[in-house]
Order: sequence, then C-alpha cells, then structure tokens
Amino acid sequence: MGKPTGFKEFKRKTEDYREVSLRVKDYGEIFTGIHDVEHLGTQGARCMDCGVPFCQSGNGCPVNNLIPEWNHLVYTEQWQPALNRLHKTNNFPEFTGRVCPAPCEGACVLGVNEPAVTIKNIENAIVDKGFAEGWISARPPVNRSDKKIAIIGSGPAGLAAAAQLNKVGHNVTVYERADRIGGLLMYGIPNMKLGKDVVQRRVDLLKEEGVVFVTNADVGGNGDNAVDVKTLKKENDAVLFATGATRARDLDVPGRDLKGVHLAMEFLTANTKSLLDSDLNDGNYISAKDKNVVVIGGGDTGTDCIGTSLRHGCKSMVNFELLPQSPAERAEDNPWPLWPLIHRIDYGHEESRERFGRDPREYRVLTKEFIDDGNGNVAGVKIVEVRWAKVDDQWKMEEVEGTEKIWDADLVLLSMGFLGPEHYVSDAVYVEYDARSNYQAEHGKYTTNIEGIFAAGDCRRGQSLVVWGINEGREAAREIDCYLMGDTLLP
Ligand SMILES: Cc1cc2nc3c(=O)[nH]c(=O)nc-3n(C[C@H](O)[C@H](O)[C@H](O)COP(=O)(O)OP(=O)(O)OC[C@H]3O[C@@H](n4cnc5c(N)ncnc54)[C@H](O)[C@@H]3O)c2cc1C
Ligand code: SF4
Repeated sequence: MGKPTGFKEFKRKTEDYREVSLRVKDYGEIFTGIHDVEHLGTQGARCMDCGVPFCQSGNGCPVNNLIPEWNHLVYTEQWQPALNRLHKTNNFPEFTGRVCPAPCEGACVLGVNEPAVTIKNIENAIVDKGFAEGWISARPPVNRSDKKIAIIGSGPAGLAAAAQLNKVGHNVTVYERADRIGGLLMYGIPNMKLGKDVVQRRVDLLKEEGVVFVTNADVGGNGDNAVDVKTLKKENDAVLFATGATRARDLDVPGRDLKGVHLAMEFLTANTKSLLDSDLNDGNYISAKDKNVVVIGGGDTGTDCIGTSLRHGCKSMVNFELLPQSPAERAEDNPWPLWPLIHRIDYGHEESRERFGRDPREYRVLTKEFIDDGNGNVAGVKIVEVRWAKVDDQWKMEEVEGTEKIWDADLVLLSMGFLGPEHYVSDAVYVEYDARSNYQAEHGKYTTNIEGIFAAGDCRRGQSLVVWGINEGREAAREIDCYLMGDTLLP
C-alpha cells in the first residue's frame, strides 16, 4: 500500500480535459495528453489496498486489472513495473484508459463515503508513459503452432482474441469488412474520445507480432468483397465470430423516410472515414453545419453525435431522452458497489452547454412524427411529454395530454441502441441465436452450437463496452486454445 493515510490527506482530482472553446474547433482528443506524475502519485496514494479490492472484480473491472498493485507502483514511481502489471490483464489499456466508463471507480471501497480513486486516469497515464518511453514493443511468439484461426470482426473482442492466440503461437487471421481495422474503436467512437493513431499504433504492433489482417473482407456477404464463411471454416482449425452488435434500433414513426433523418452510425462512421481519408475535404459525410440538429436517444452514441455536430458548426442542438433525468446521488435501490445510476455530464453535453448556454438534454420526451418541409426533407420533430409510473412493480409510460410540441429540425440522428448482430454470416453456417437474437454461446465458454465456431463480444452479449469486448476476446482465446491443444496457459 502506497501511503496508509493517503486517502485522508489527498482529495480526488481527475485530469482536466482540453478547454472546451479550443477542443470544439478540432477533432483532436479531448484529453490534454499531459500526465502530471506527482499529481498521479498522490491520486494513487489514495488507494487503501483493501483486503477485498472490489474495484478489480465482481462489479468492478471486467478484465480484473490489478488496480491496487499499480496504484502502489505509481505512488512509488515504479512506472515500468506498473505497466507490466497492467498488460498482464489488459491487452489495450490505451483504449480503456480513454473510453472506459470505469465501473472500477463505481465499486472502489473508498467510494462508500468519499470520492473514488481516479483509477482510469492512472491506467491511461501508465500506458501513455509506456509508449512514450519506448517500453512497449512487438513481442512475436518464439514458436509457432500448426493451428490456424480465423477471427471475423476486428473490434476490441476480435483484437484481444487475436493478441492472445498469437501470443501462444497460433496462426491468426482477422477478417474485417470495413477498410480499416478496429471495429467501433475505429469507426464508431469518434477521434475526440479515441485518436485513430492510437488505434492504428496497436494494430501495427499486432501486425509486427504476426497477426494477419484482411480488410474489405465481408465474410458471408454476397458482394464484390465477399469471403465464403464455409471455406473459412474448412480451412481453419477454429473460427471466432466477433462481429459486434451492428443492427441499430430504428424509429418507426410517420416521416421516418424523410431526407435528413439518419441512424447515428451513418453519421458517425462517414464522418470518421472522411476525416481520415481527406480531412473532410471529400465531402463524403453528412454535415450538421448550420443545421438544427435533434439527437434522439442518449448514451455514448448520442453524446458522440452531439460532439461531432458541434464540430461541424450546427445551428442548434437538442437531445431527446425517453427516460427521466437520473438522480444526482445513488438511489436507495442502487447501492455501492453497483454501477452508479446518476446524472452525468459527458464531454458533448459540456460542449453544448458552452456553445448554446444550456444542457442539450430534454427528458421524458416521446417522438411522434417527423415533419415534412413539403419537399421531402425533414423540417421538424413532433414530440409529446411522457410520465413514468410504477404499476404492479413495472414501470409504465403514459403520454401527458396537451404537451405536444414541434421542434425545428434539419438533421435528426437516431441513437436508440442496437439490437444485436447481423445474421447473414451466422445463418450461412447454422449458428443458433439466444432469445435476444445474439449468437448463442455461454459466457465463459464461448462455444456456439457448431463445433469449432466460437463467439465473443457484443455479437454474443449484446451492445456493451470496450472493456467487456476485451474480456470476452481474452476468455474466448483461452477456450479456443484449450479446444485446439487440450490444455492452455492463457489466463
Ligand atoms: C458511437 C459509439 C460510441 C461508443 N463509445 C463507447 C465508449 O466511450 N466506451 C466504451 O467502453 N464503449 C463504447 N461503445 C461501445 C463499444 O464500442 C463496443 O461495445 C465494442 O466496440 C464492441 O466490441 P466488439 O469487438 O464486440 O464489436 P465491434 O467493435 O462492433 O466490432 C465488430 C466488427 O466486426 C465487423 N464485422 C461484422 N460483420 C462482419 C462480417 N460479416 N465480415 C467481416 N467483418 C464483420 C464490423 O465491421 C466491426 O468492425 C460505443 C459504441 C458506439 C456505437
Ligand atoms: S479497464 Fe475500465 S474498469 Fe478496468 S481499471 Fe480500466 S477504467 Fe477501470
């Protein structure tokens, strides 16, 4: 334990983001990139090294990061050993250190009566320092096995599985239908939250270590880039589906087909691609410039639509949420160490507040209709307020009479979550689904009903988090290694 009295002496202080007024002018990361070593040391010293570190298991960190160990190492300025500890449990701490919502902090024991330790900041600083000091380099396996594994999908789940299986010497090929590797790390989470150079740096390391990547490879598809899934199955000793939960929930109300109404991912993906291809000069993206933007639905995707629209220079911004605003503090039925269901202000909300003088979120709002401008373009969104009441222990929603209203809108972005994986690749090899239409495979086992085909990440568990993708990719790699070799040394 770093400093026994640290939690009494030092207050929690997270690292600042870049000034709002500056960062909204570019697509650079919101983080400053500056890690004050002394400050992080005192933050690490707040860790109580609890007998049972809730932060690193159970409701805490899904990859079981050895948090108290590296808190101590950072406090005692042993950054390289801290990095080694971090890489034992997490292949990509530079991703989680930037984008993880940090369930570890929600479960931190100090959080029972004091603000939690700034675990996520410390994780990010350790790995950033590791890259800056040149401590992170490619480590190809010494021996190769004769086993071949095909991984379909290159998000965090596919990449983590590839890293682990390659580490034990198997021959891994990752197939990705997009033109760049990374899944939602590349074409989902915007540059502001996760720089694409950060993603590419890790992909390049994996390449150097021997993982083969095939882009523009639509496995099970039937277009020009199609790769036959049955052939992949035949030519490989194991196949891992890591195809993500890419089916977006749509909004079936009158006017849905008007021009200017888009799924959030159409907007976000095109923006990142155009940005990377041409610095937005090719015009191949949906512009929010000078438009009244309505984002329907919250979460990370909604916030990212807000942040991107602001950078385009939108005229106004509103974000509709169906649910009421969360409380400022944990409710009684949401005790520690559960994930705190509290009101949060994310980067996009902060930016919108600074630009327009108010938080963009409007709560308890149901969208009824999109209004036509007479030429097939969206001109407004008709909404009604709702109230929520508990009936027989179930939350029921009811429209509030007389509250209908029309909001001006030239661009509407639908961000209402995802319904699971697409089925064309799985149908072709008769993989079964669970009740929520995800690939059926038990957590911890990852085997589907078809021998030799495994599934991990959002395609198996439903829409989730980067850190859960890494957890599932690592665990699936262990199961695949065991299936191929009869035993495994992978954690
Ligand atoms: C806009 C947005 C913002 C988010 N922000 C955060 C955040 O801040 N923090 C956080 O923790 N999580 C965030 N998430 C969630 C997180 O990105 C996902 O949970 C995570 O990426 C899932 O990883 P995955 O590997 O299972 O799938 P994905 O990352 O979805 O990757 C799946 C890949 O499979 C490819 N694929 C699918 N079918 C085929 C096929 N037939 N052939 C070849 N390739 C195929 C897809 O093109 C895709 O690249 C966000 C999600 C979105 C949409
Ligand atoms: S990966 Fe997420 S949950 Fe785990 S230590 Fe890092 S921020 Fe916390």
